[in-house]
Amino acid sequence: MSQQCEFCKKIVGSRKYLLKHQKQTKKCLKIQEELRATENKERKLIELERMLSEEKVRNNMLQENYDDLKEKYQQEIERNRDLREKYNDERKAHKYCIEKYYEEKERHNKLEEKYERVLSEDKERNNELQKELLKAAQRPITNNTTNNTNNINTVIQKLSPLTDDCYIDNLPYLTIRHVEKGGAGFAEYALEYPLKDKLVCVDPARKKIKYKNDKGEIMVDPGMHCTRVKFFKSVKKRSDLIFNDYIQDEEDRLAVMECMEIANKVRTQVSDAAQGGSNKLTQTFDRIVCSKTMVSNL
Ligand SMILES: [Zn+2]
Repeated sequence: MSQQCEFCKKIVGSRKYLLKHQKQTKKCLKIQEELRATENKERKLIELERMLSEEKVRNNMLQENYDDLKEKYQQEIERNRDLREKYNDERKAHKYCIEKYYEEKERHNKLEEKYERVLSEDKERNNELQKELLKAAQRPITNNTTNNTNNINTVIQKLSPLTDDCYIDNLPYLTIRHVEKGGAGFAEYALEYPLKDKLVCVDPARKKIKYKNDKGEIMVDPGMHCTRVKFFKSVKKRSDLIFNDYIQDEEDRLAVMECMEIANKVRTQVSDAAQGGSNKLTQTFDRIVCSKTMVSNL
């Protein structure tokens, strides 16, 4: 049975001869060698194509990676720019705060200077008054002692009685104008309203006062202690209310702060005075009340 060689296509007589032909015939061996070389080249080509496609995949991955990074960097740059702007804004705000602080500080210093000046002027005035009072107290009562005593008695007889109602009925006339001035303001109110024409000071150095009670009897109040305590008991609650109302209604913050400071001081001293205590406020009050109701001044 004849067979065909798969390489050179030659037809031979048997299977056995075909094998011998494929091993020995030069022409067929050459064709076989060429076929093998072609197959090798094809394999190499396939391998190259595979490598190329792998490279392409890697390139794509790199490209994607690059794109991601690029986007990330751009975001980073954007964020940095924002941060820088924010930082600049904050620096400006900080600078503004510092400027404000110095302005505020300067205003505070000016207020303090003003306060010191007023305080020292007040002190000077107090000293002068004190000297005057002392002079008045030491003034010799010589040849007209009797006249003077008569004079005092006449004045006392003309006084209106000082009753508990006097303190209460006049409270509506007490205003912020009085309470904010402390001792001087309370004295002003007292002399204008509850104590007006109701007492005389007969000895300013000892703050000794005389008044008529509701039965028309002449009362002596040495050191004007009783009168003062009664007076401050009567004004305590109302002066608190006056400060509170003022603070609630006033819109100027600085004025409110100043008023609160004064209110605190006045409250403490008035409350002390109502319990019989003596302090700066009562001393001013006593001094003014005595000096304005001295018999020689009437
Ligand atoms: Zn062959």
